[in-house]
Amino acid sequence: MKMILDVDTGIDDALAIAYAVGAEEAELKGITCCFGNVRVETAVRNTLQILHVLGAGDIPVYAGENTTFAGKDFIPAEVCKRVHGLNGIGDIELPGTTKNAEKGDAVTFMASMADQYGKELVIVATAAMTNLARFIERYPEKAAGVGCICVMGGAVTVPGNVNRYAEANILADPEAAKYVLESGIHILMIGLDVTLKTMMSAEAMEEWIRPWREAGTKAGDKFSEMVHYYCSHEVGKEGKREGAIHDPLAVAAAIHPELIEFFETNLTVETDGESRGRTTGDLSRLKCREKTVKVCVDARVESFLNDFVGTVQKAIHRI
Ligand code: CA
Repeated sequence: MKMILDVDTGIDDALAIAYAVGAEEAELKGITCCFGNVRVETAVRNTLQILHVLGAGDIPVYAGENTTFAGKDFIPAEVCKRVHGLNGIGDIELPGTTKNAEKGDAVTFMASMADQYGKELVIVATAAMTNLARFIERYPEKAAGVGCICVMGGAVTVPGNVNRYAEANILADPEAAKYVLESGIHILMIGLDVTLKTMMSAEAMEEWIRPWREAGTKAGDKFSEMVHYYCSHEVGKEGKREGAIHDPLAVAAAIHPELIEFFETNLTVETDGESRGRTTGDLSRLKCREKTVKVCVDARVESFLNDFVGTVQKAIHRI
């Protein structure tokens, strides 16, 4: 399969990038950037540097939307600065690169890849859904023709993580998410319903990634440092240090659908009042036979972690 990642490179996006770079099942054709954890220009810089440290600087990077679907400026939430650091990647300095983003924009790139690869193409979006919404808005037929659009975001059966209603990627641009989920385009949704099941204690996580640190490569060092930062700053229930591997699970769902379980429904996003950003059933399509969203609710966690950690290991051994 051919893959596009749409990211807001934060730490778990960086892990998702390494996972996609290392995966033999997927050919990463390009990365489009949106906002969310950080502003879009920071996401672009982080993505270029992550690819560079992985020896994958030949993969093109495209800047996406820098305003929300409603046309507003985006300001990252305070919680993102705590979880991902001021620079989005745990305040860790990555080796600089002279490479820049490509000249074209993210949405046009998605459209050209959809034209070229059709059902062979999967788009994995792990940021605000703004680029995706614009892609569907401008090129609905091309969007309907790709093999899979898999998004990390939302919380249907569990509370949100920014507040009790909203998950971070949805709350970064609720109007975009609403547009995507109501568009009729089929979406595979990897929300907190399942990513909270891949939550790991800081100690377990450090143990899992020990081979990365021992790899002796620059990428191994940097990725270990990022995970260490991530586990130290994401605080789970009862105040324990934990890390949720949100974004890599969306890559896994696209590559290994046998690892996940889902139910199908029609969703919308609430955009008003205190529940702004809540993903919930679309009452107007309750009786529709066709369901457009697969809400992932379970995963074979051990198999996923094995594949994820081993595949990233391959990526960090490339140089
Ligand atoms: Ca992300």
